[in-house]
Amino acid sequence: MDRACITEALAGADALVLRVDYPRDQFAIDGVSTRLSLPGAGMLNAFQALCAPVDQPKLTVLAREGRSDIRLRLIDPQNVVRFVRLVGTHKGGVWQGLILPAGTGPGAGLARIEAEHALHQGLKDGEMTAFYQPLIRLSDESLAGFEALARWYHPDQGLLGPDDFFSLAKDLGLLGTMGEAVRARAMKDMAAWTASGHDGLYLAVNVSGWELTQRGFAEQLSALVVGAGLKRGQIKVEITETEVMRHADAAMGAIATLRRHGVLVLLDDFGTGYSSLARLSRFGVDGLKIDQYFIRAMASDEGARTIVQSVLTLAQDMGLSVVAEGVEERDIALRLRDMGCTYAQGFYYDGALNPEAASTVLSAGRAGRYHAHQA
Ligand code: C2E
Ligand code: MG
Ligand code: MG
Repeated sequence: MDRACITEALAGADALVLRVDYPRDQFAIDGVSTRLSLPGAGMLNAFQALCAPVDQPKLTVLAREGRSDIRLRLIDPQNVVRFVRLVGTHKGGVWQGLILPAGTGPGAGLARIEAEHALHQGLKDGEMTAFYQPLIRLSDESLAGFEALARWYHPDQGLLGPDDFFSLAKDLGLLGTMGEAVRARAMKDMAAWTASGHDGLYLAVNVSGWELTQRGFAEQLSALVVGAGLKRGQIKVEITETEVMRHADAAMGAIATLRRHGVLVLLDDFGTGYSSLARLSRFGVDGLKIDQYFIRAMASDEGARTIVQSVLTLAQDMGLSVVAEGVEERDIALRLRDMGCTYAQGFYYDGALNPEAASTVLSAGRAGRYHAHQA
């Protein structure tokens, strides 16, 4: 008998991994992964019932009463992901309905399911956290603030950065949950630093285009800031230029609401989205972060230097603050300062630091690189 796995996401429930026998058109449960996280025993019964033979007209389901539209994900022995839909009604403990094929899906079978499960679980268990990359004021090379960057302490794989889990979080609709976890942690740390005398420090947090355009996002973020005991002006939200342009109309409204609530807004990775500064002025942002690509290219490319200079001049005319990202050499930092750039961020100064290391540089700076924060 061939082996297969069934995974299931009931509307709003956790992803499940059930190991089943899969003879032709039948499902029957043979064992359950020990790492299952189930909202309740009733749910498990529901799945066992769902895995009754397909040709049986009546399936007993203990899920909530009413109409149900459930997608089951099957992984066949060749590791191909297939979906079936169970559409029907559940009434008086009996589920009646149809089992429909629902196509094949992306993902590399079990490994993918395990990664998904680990991310769901990791978010619940508080494994998602914030690291802090120093933002340096170029005029005196002092610490001005931090950008909070998502990091995941994976139980088996150690510390992971956004490149390792972002697309998974996006596919699973977890960008919001992930972003919230990072921002909540960052605001808590920021409140502790402020309470220890570091007034005037600023915190930049990243927000995805999807989050930005969710109803009530600006109000929730602003409530989080106040709840953490921070001043609203201390928080700068970073949204990539590309994301802003992708959701142009909705983004414009959301940016205006954030700023009405006293939260500052920066365009991240500026220069990669092919939009002109004049066009962006309509969005009413507070500042720009010039993408690392242009900053790194400055060392060898006259064209990149000209682009950076013209962005700086225009930004000054428009009253926008500018952060140069990806500063890896002292020469570039000094040149940017002379060109009128306010802030820099990059490996020359520091990478992303864990909260303890961030506390240390806050008071001590980094010898030979930058000074401690000046309140
Ligand atoms: P970003 O916001 O542009 O953040 C800067 C990224 O560049 C960080 O990568 C940082 O570690 C890296 N970096 C900084 N200085 C240098 C340098 O001098 N050289 C080089 N080569 N790289 C440098 P990281 O942490 O991997 O983050 C990648 C992106 O993921 C971020 O780009 C941001 O767009 C996104 N991200 C991070 N945390 C969050 C979050 O909590 N929510 C959302 N929505 N996005 C996040
Ligand atoms: Mg950023
Ligand atoms: Mg950036």
